[in-house]
Amino acid sequence: MELVVFDLDDTLVDFASTRRLAYESMRELLHGAGIDATAWLQACSALDRPLFRQFEQGAMTRAEYRIRRFSDPFTSLGLPVPAELVTRLNGVFMACVNDHPLLYEDVQPVLLELRNRGVRTAVLTNGPSDGQRRKLRASGLSEWVDHVVIAEELGASKPSPRAFHAAVAPFAMAPADALMVGDSPELDYAGALAAGLQARLLDRDARFAALNLPTIRTLRELLSDAKR
Ligand SMILES: [Mg+2]
Repeated sequence: MELVVFDLDDTLVDFASTRRLAYESMRELLHGAGIDATAWLQACSALDRPLFRQFEQGAMTRAEYRIRRFSDPFTSLGLPVPAELVTRLNGVFMACVNDHPLLYEDVQPVLLELRNRGVRTAVLTNGPSDGQRRKLRASGLSEWVDHVVIAEELGASKPSPRAFHAAVAPFAMAPADALMVGDSPELDYAGALAAGLQARLLDRDARFAALNLPTIRTLRELLSDAKR
């Protein structure tokens, strides 16, 4: 294995914990505005994934996604949308997730050990460009990986083979010499295989055990595969 390409959110960045912290900061703002914060945050969690999918598939712009994820919860609770509060909620959320991202504990040691062993590394993410760039800088990841591909900048997102090939391209090696590691069976695992890369599904919580795919539970398992 010459190159490992990593997904970012929920693979390197513990996005679920990061988002939980962000939601806690938003709770006060909601409470201060007389909104039932618990109900609002529940609606927000439920609505986010389908909205993000639309952004990912190009059916919604980034600006639209950012407004809708925090305005739709008001609508779904039967409340008028307070535009100014939506803007403030966005500001608090973005500051938390992009400037204070939490990494899983295995990330830094494994990336540094791969570098020690001469294995090249890249990040390939479908998330919004401006936020992902901030997140990569704030977490230290920009320093520890050799290359970053952000789908929005490329104009192609996972599972398109073009996204995977862009991650491999600077290293002048065949896709088959690269290993993709990510938490999505569809976008990361199946997408990488279709593009000719090797792939392992990162399944930290054994959520996908029933799929019977080549899986790792922690990034440390990569060190037993990597060349010495
Ligand atoms: Mg992910």
